Parts: sequence; structure tokens; C-alpha cells
Amino acid sequence: MVKILIIEDEKALVTILKYNLEKNGFETDFVTDGKKALEKIKSYYPDVILLDWMLPHLSGVEICKILRHDHALRHIPVIMLTARGDENDKVNALSIGADDYMTKPFSIPELIARIRAILRRATPKIEKKTASYADLTVDFEKKLVQRGKRVVHLGPTEFRLLEVFLEKPEKVFSREDLLTAVWGHTIHVETRTVDVHVKRLRQSLNAGKEIDLIRTVRSMGYALTHSDNKKHSS
Ligand code: CA
Repeated sequence: MVKILIIEDEKALVTILKYNLEKNGFETDFVTDGKKALEKIKSYYPDVILLDWMLPHLSGVEICKILRHDHALRHIPVIMLTARGDENDKVNALSIGADDYMTKPFSIPELIARIRAILRRATPKIEKKTASYADLTVDFEKKLVQRGKRVVHLGPTEFRLLEVFLEKPEKVFSREDLLTAVWGHTIHVETRTVDVHVKRLRQSLNAGKEIDLIRTVRSMGYALTHSDNKKHSS
């Protein structure tokens, strides 16, 4: 059964979420305190985390950052829940490593659609066990990405994006292609969200200052390529 961990200090919302998620066939557990959240994540080992932005002791943002730097936990998808409606906060949530974002009050069917979409995204589609391109190697079973000997740390959405790029190296994927391949048709995602995740993927791939493997093709989209890229400088 798919396990969902609710990290939320608003007890009434926890009750509603637990009830509805369990009714929809998910197993749930919850924690209301930021400081206890990490222990709970390690012991419960959820498939998806619903993470409130404002929590006592340790904020959702801090928790998300810690997760994305933890080798054992970084692949767990995170949906941020927040009272903030600001577009910048949305981009911030994605850029610190959340995979999706919902503004309170949100509809339960919408949340469930997003959880299902994220689970599809987290499941590898490639039949191959490994793939490589230039100095990049990916082990899909172990979810291990390396450039040369350097291990690249990717969140689940970035991993899925890379998987799509690796299906056809050097092909230019439009934002719409990537949206469909990574997020599916069932939920509405803005094309700017694609840009944020590609940016995160690029930063992780180039963290060792290697040759940039992602090419931005103006007004067209993105491609995985190393042929005419300059050394990454930002
Ligand atoms: Ca809160």
C-alpha cells in the first residue's frame, strides 16, 4: 500500500487529510512537529510526503532542504502545503526541491490527483537498467546518477526529467513535451514549473563545474547534449 506521511501542525486538517487519503486507499501517518518530522520520515519511510510550510521548531522549507541533501531520503516526493498564495512562494517551494505545491484551502480530489501524478512520476518507465551519455551514467534501479565518479543528487522530479532526456539524447524537448512526459495530462502545471525543475536538474548535473549537459533552445525547449555547450559558468 502507498504510504503518505502528513507533516502538518493544524490538527483539523490532519484529520481531514487522513480520512480522505485512507478512503482513497492510501496508508497514512502524521507528525505535527517539525523537529520530530525527520525521525518520522526515517522510521515510516513514506512514498509521498505532504509538508506544511509553517511548522513549530523546524519549517517545511528546512525539512525539504534537508531531505534533498540526504542520500537515503532525497528520492521521496514532497508536496508542499501552504497558506501562502504568492507566485514567488510557489517558485521558491519548487526551487528548494519540492515536487509540487498546494495552496490552502485546496480541494481533496485535486490533492489526490496530484499525489497519483507524483507517484507515476516517481516510478521509472525505462525498461533499461542503466543508461549513459557523455560522462553521465544512470542506474535506474538504484536511482544512482553519476558524472564520472561524482555522485549527482537529484530529487524525484529531476530524476524523471533526466530519464525523459535520456530516452532521446540530443532531441529538443518542448516544455509541453516535458510536461506531458513528466507530469502527465491529469493535472494542470504551468510551463514555468518545467523551467524551475530543468534549472534544478542543470544545477545538480553541473555542481562539479563539468561541461553543461543541458542545452536551452530559445523559444523551443531543452535538450540533453554536450556537443556545443560551453563549460558551465554560473
Ligand atoms: Ca502550519
